[in-house]
Amino acid sequence: MQPERRKMVERQLRARGIEDERVLAAMAAVPRELFVPEALRKRAYEDAALPIGAQQTISQPYMVARICSELRLRGGERVLDVGTGSGYQAAVLAEMGAEVHSIERVPELAEHALAALAAAGYGGRVQVHVGDGTQGLPEEAPFAAIAVAAAAPGVPEALYDQLAEGGRLVLPIGPRHRQLLQAVVRSPEGPAAARAGVPCRFVPLVGAGGFQKG
Ligand code: SAH
Repeated sequence: MQPERRKMVERQLRARGIEDERVLAAMAAVPRELFVPEALRKRAYEDAALPIGAQQTISQPYMVARICSELRLRGGERVLDVGTGSGYQAAVLAEMGAEVHSIERVPELAEHALAALAAAGYGGRVQVHVGDGTQGLPEEAPFAAIAVAAAAPGVPEALYDQLAEGGRLVLPIGPRHRQLLQAVVRSPEGPAAARAGVPCRFVPLVGAGGFQKG
C-alpha cells in the first residue's frame, strides 16, 4: 500500500480511536490524492481539510472516518451522501460496499467529483446528483444511512423522513463555526436521542433545510 496512506490510517485514524475495520480498510484502499486538486496532491494525506474550489473543502480524513463509523454499515446498504464535494467520502462508502447516492449543490464540484470517482474506479458504484441535499432524494428513499458532510443548524426534516426504520443519520449540528457530530436513529417513537459527539467544524449546509447563505 502507498506508505503515506498507511501512515494516515495508523496515525490519524486507528491511534485516535477509529475501530471499525471496514472503515479502516476502505480508507486504506481509496486513493485520496485523486480527490484533491492537482496542485495540492502532495498534501493529500495531511491531517487536514484541503480546499477544492468554490470555497469548499475535502474533509479531514479523521472526520470522514468518524462519519463512516457512526453510520454502522455492514455492506450492501443504500446510503445517501449529502455534500459530495470532492467525492472522497462517497468513494469510501462505495469501497465499504454501499450503494451510494451522493448529492451536491454546486454543479462544477459535482462534475469534478464524477470525474474523480470514475478515475478511482468507483464510477459504477456512486450516483452523483445536483440539487439541494437538505431535501434529500425522495425518489431514491428510503436509505439505511445518511451522511451529511456540511454543518446544519438542526436535523433537516426531509432527511429524517427518508431514513429506513432503524436507519442512521450522521451530521454536524450547531452554529456556523463550531458543531458536534451527531448520530440520529429513526425509530417508531421518533428520533432516538441524538448523542453529543465529537466537536468539529464543517462548511455550512446551504439550502431550504440548512443555512440561508454559504
Ligand atoms: N464529503 C465531501 C466534503 C465536502 S464539503 C468530501 O469528501 O470532499 C461539503 C460539501 O457540501 C460542499 O461541496 C458544499 O458545496 C456541499 N453542500 C452545502 N450545502 C449543500 C446542500 N444543501 N446540498 C448539497 N450539497 C451541499
